[in-house]
Amino acid sequence: MNKADSERLGSALDQLGLSSTDSSAEADVIILNSCVVRQSAENKVTGTLGSLKAHKRIFPDKIVALMGCMVGPTTDSLKQKFPHVDVFMRPQEFEPLIQLIGQKLDIDTDGCLGQLTARADVTAYIPIIHGCDKFCSFCIIPYRRGREVSRTVNDIVNEVNLLSERGVKEITLLGQNVDSYGHDLVGNENLATLLEAVSTVDKIKRIRFLTSHPNDMSDSIIDTVANNEKVCENINLPFQAGDDSVLGRMRRGYTNAEYRKLIDKIRIKVPNVSITTDLIVGFCGETEDQFEKTLDMVKDIKFDKVHSAIYSTRTGTIADRKFQDDVSDSEKTNRLKQIDETQSNIQKELNKDLMGKTMEVLVENDKDHRSFGRNRNDKLVYLPQDSSLIGKMVSVEIIETGPWSLKGKVVTAA
Ligand code: SF4
Repeated sequence: MNKADSERLGSALDQLGLSSTDSSAEADVIILNSCVVRQSAENKVTGTLGSLKAHKRIFPDKIVALMGCMVGPTTDSLKQKFPHVDVFMRPQEFEPLIQLIGQKLDIDTDGCLGQLTARADVTAYIPIIHGCDKFCSFCIIPYRRGREVSRTVNDIVNEVNLLSERGVKEITLLGQNVDSYGHDLVGNENLATLLEAVSTVDKIKRIRFLTSHPNDMSDSIIDTVANNEKVCENINLPFQAGDDSVLGRMRRGYTNAEYRKLIDKIRIKVPNVSITTDLIVGFCGETEDQFEKTLDMVKDIKFDKVHSAIYSTRTGTIADRKFQDDVSDSEKTNRLKQIDETQSNIQKELNKDLMGKTMEVLVENDKDHRSFGRNRNDKLVYLPQDSSLIGKMVSVEIIETGPWSLKGKVVTAA
């Protein structure tokens, strides 16, 4: 979501005639997009803001802006702590910065926020629902990004049309809980109907969506993945923990057995699907036995990728108020290591099966003297560098595999 927000603000600034640089020394406007999902991410932003203090003292005309989930109810204390920051913007509220840039750089800013889109690359992220209503006990997101608000189907389809005209071939529909899209809209819109609607945009070749919640993954969503040829066979379905009492304390709303049943159903309906997940180790009160159930889940289900995280308390969450963060740091690290090692071996084995297979890859870009793209299952595939392939769908034979990526050679370019 943050990447999508950065892209959207970036496209508005492009329209004002500004161009981007990674060097704060060169920049007239320095923007930090903050994430609070883990304490370490927040610390990183706080550290960078601190180091920008001296920079702003030397260059007082530069604009320093802070956006994202750190900005919210605690903005007053942030303003006191970081008086050198000119603008504080909540997620998706770009207007204060645009206005200030207009004043300081004497630019006409009218209309630049009218049609906010992702930057036109081969692939683009499109937020379709903001916020989250779930209130999982460990999570800060609902407090910072607010309650769920869906964009209208028309608005989204218009954006997809615009992006397709600018060369985008693959879109990823985004939400903290993308499966609950549409419940707040008038009519019967839902993620399945939206997927059908965006798939009518001719030049869009592939559609993905991220992130799902097990309780909201409806049959109609699964059927759309199975039947709509533009929707890629790739689902991110966080399970977070394998033990039912931990799941209860997390307020996830499902059991280990229910999650496994859902995975079975998806795999029956979409036989060639890749499934990725998110999980947390060391949640409040997690015993060794309870952790083992998470590890068993990883071993049994054999996910294509696992985003694993160590639990850290986020102030203001239900877990912060009700439970004790009582698993030691060394134990948390040890559990994470077990998950990561197990998963790395699983990925190695799963990817080995792809050796010699031919698959469709959308080439996204070049990096480090190689071209790269992804297959429909969202696996990263490296190719010998050929810039003329960027934006093209190519048929690739896999000639080398590893846990994190594949290497291939082009058989036919479309
Ligand atoms: Fe946070 Fe996801 Fe739970 Fe929403 S569903 S509260 S974003 S973990």
